[in-house]
Amino acid sequence: MTSQTDKHSDIFRRLHGLHQVLEELRGRMMKGPRLAQAYARQVQQAEQVLESARKAHQDLKMVAHRKQMDYDQKLADIQRRKSQLMQAKDNREYQVLKDQIAADEMAASVLADEALELMDRAEASTRSVAECEEKVAAAKRQAEQWSEEFSRQEPTIRAEIERVESELRRAESMLAGDVREMYQRVVRLKGSSALAPVRGEFCGGCNQHVPLNMRSKLKLGEYVYCHSCGRMLFYAEEE
Ligand SMILES: [Zn+2]
Repeated sequence: MTSQTDKHSDIFRRLHGLHQVLEELRGRMMKGPRLAQAYARQVQQAEQVLESARKAHQDLKMVAHRKQMDYDQKLADIQRRKSQLMQAKDNREYQVLKDQIAADEMAASVLADEALELMDRAEASTRSVAECEEKVAAAKRQAEQWSEEFSRQEPTIRAEIERVESELRRAESMLAGDVREMYQRVVRLKGSSALAPVRGEFCGGCNQHVPLNMRSKLKLGEYVYCHSCGRMLFYAEEE
């Protein structure tokens, strides 16, 4: 390799390295709000589940209450009929009342069973509401923890981004004339993945084959773009 090529390869290697660091740092920066959003969605989902658990609980309580009222009503009917029994005018009326009381007692026993079962279910749904409340609280804690954690990280990442950006500008200022323009054009198009190392015979950006004539040009210190992805190529290591 000529010393010219070495120099360009060195600068491109350095630029590529800085771009990668920047990309990683910006990724960490974006992770903050992205994760915060994901946690907020989890809280929202847990709250929705809680809301339907509460609704189911209220409904069950209402149904259980109605069943209890039906049962009380049936007991009152039985009482009423028992007192009518005393004043029955004849045997026929007496027997009719007797039959009605028997039927009511049967119905009351069924209602009592149903009311008990509903009360059990309402109690179980109280537990399920409590569990859902715990899940909402846990999701909120997780969201808060991340928000605190990220506010701790953010200033460091921000400072690091500024430092690497100024280092990048310094490295870019070492590119002269044509190269600088070519480089800037690719950066405008491809951002931080504007450059790609040639590894063996392949482009490190898109893994496509880089033909021999292009690799030779590169070795002679010319500027070469990958035909597949358009990145500016450089040699990853001294060969
Ligand atoms: Zn490529």
